[in-house]
Amino acid sequence: MTSLPLTLDQRPPTVAHLFLDRVRATPDAPAYRFPTAEGGPWGELSWSGTAERVTAIAAGLLSLGINPTERVAIASSTRVEWILADLAVMCAGLATTTVYPTTNSDETAYILADSSSRVLFAEDAAQVGKVLSEHDRLPDLTTVIVFDAPEEPLASEHFRILTLPELEHQGTLHLKDQPESVQKAVDELRQDQLATLIYTSGTTGRPKGVRLDHACWSYQGAAPVITGLLRHDDVHFLWLPLSHVFGKTLICGQIATGHVMAVDGRVDKVVENLQTIRPTVTAAVPRIFEKIYGNLTARATPATGGPDAHAVRAAFGGRLRIAVCGSAALSPDITSFFLDAGVPILEGYGLTETAAGSTVNRADAIRVGTVGVPYPGTEVRIAEDGEILLRGPGVMRGYHNLPEKTAEVLDADGWFRTGDIGELGPDGSLRITDRKKDLFKTSGGKYIAPSEVEGRLKALCPFVSNVVVIGDRRNYCTALITLDATVLLPWAVTQGIPGDYAEVVDAPATRLLVDGYVRTLNEGLQRWQTIKKFTLLPRDLDIEHGELTPSLKVKRTVVTRLHEDAVSAMYEGDGTPAHRA
Ligand code: AMP
Repeated sequence: MTSLPLTLDQRPPTVAHLFLDRVRATPDAPAYRFPTAEGGPWGELSWSGTAERVTAIAAGLLSLGINPTERVAIASSTRVEWILADLAVMCAGLATTTVYPTTNSDETAYILADSSSRVLFAEDAAQVGKVLSEHDRLPDLTTVIVFDAPEEPLASEHFRILTLPELEHQGTLHLKDQPESVQKAVDELRQDQLATLIYTSGTTGRPKGVRLDHACWSYQGAAPVITGLLRHDDVHFLWLPLSHVFGKTLICGQIATGHVMAVDGRVDKVVENLQTIRPTVTAAVPRIFEKIYGNLTARATPATGGPDAHAVRAAFGGRLRIAVCGSAALSPDITSFFLDAGVPILEGYGLTETAAGSTVNRADAIRVGTVGVPYPGTEVRIAEDGEILLRGPGVMRGYHNLPEKTAEVLDADGWFRTGDIGELGPDGSLRITDRKKDLFKTSGGKYIAPSEVEGRLKALCPFVSNVVVIGDRRNYCTALITLDATVLLPWAVTQGIPGDYAEVVDAPATRLLVDGYVRTLNEGLQRWQTIKKFTLLPRDLDIEHGELTPSLKVKRTVVTRLHEDAVSAMYEGDGTPAHRA
């Protein structure tokens, strides 16, 4: 086994070339391990075995008559078929659009329609159901390919529905007829050709499609080789969602490095899988490290002291060399805890718009509390107002069909405005200190646009005066809500609830009233945006307490600081470390 000899300038132009170079370099080495449907020993694909399946699927896609750069969507959790489908899309000269399996039907249909997706790889009947119910919004979609076909065959008058083996069979027949078709598609690929269209949340409205070309991904393949972040003898356990750029960048690194990757996205199996796979590398969002930290420290008693280093390493299977963490902020306390126990967590930073990897800590120079130093070829600049600007081969070419939004973030010299605020240390390491954009991330790495959720609740509920959605670095969202006395008090009279504002908001009937609106709000939100708990404050926000600006804009930090106890109560017992910032 060996890593491909890559440099920034001498790297394969596309993901397809990168993959085929890998297959030629180490055809017999193991590429992927995956649980089998029967629950027996894990299956394994070598690089040549992977290429065989990828070529058949790619030929199957070509046989459907799809044109270069047209979009093929994948709506599935993390599993080996996801990777095979994506690599086939790359080798057929098409482009992948990704959909989280948890995304609701409405947003799934939006993404498929906005990306003009022609084909959808759907994990199971539930994913297929989303497009069946929204077929009238999907004029471009012709074919749905199902990974887990239900016993009762699926049928639709609107789309052709095939199982993955049926597509592969169709591809094998196509190759008999046109043996060079996939190679020809690869030969025609250009490095500046669209490879993925990945949707990211904005502060309002619908998500935006981020256009990343092949050169962005071949860069993400080369950088971990050049920096030595990944090694050819690593065993990587992948369970992160592949719908997000973080997952895809790990796959590119894996192909370049050539190490084996064990793939299973089932979160309820992570603990068990760590013991089976015994990885040397894994990657996760902060929430997972918080959970493992919580479990380990909960077990320790004052008599035993903290968990010993041996137990911490054992929780990861005992062989872990590095864990990469990104997508949201990780508490420095947690990084230090694991580092002291011999589990180095390398925090990194990037955005969908930069194909994930822009900066990362190096294993031999971990700077706790920072997101490390830039990948070679990536430049970081801090603007006058503190905003982090990035430039380099990983940066997107723009938002899909949104030239004005693109111009807001990307200048003519290629600098991308991240919307994050940060500082550069003397050693070049980047520290993220604040946010300029009105978006925050939960510790699960999911974007929340608080003003959008707040606006929706205000539109729904005539009783709401102010609402502040909280969830930054927490593992779920909550809200502090105040009600409009001029609407509330007359309502209270009709309900026979006596008292002033504070007494009325304290009444169970009032809570029930607001709870009904919050439930309705939640029904229209993605699961990760939903308000799990709320508190009705005993008075409205005001300028005197500094909670509102003179123009009546809510000052979030002041509100959360002044009502800290109410906020803490909503996160009691959530398993996150008490000392977390
Ligand atoms: P996404 O496009 O989903 O990858 O989100 C990108 C955003 O996630 C960045 O602009 C940051 O706000 C946030 N982010 C990513 N990595 C980190 C990190 N290590 N620490 C803090 N925030 C991060």
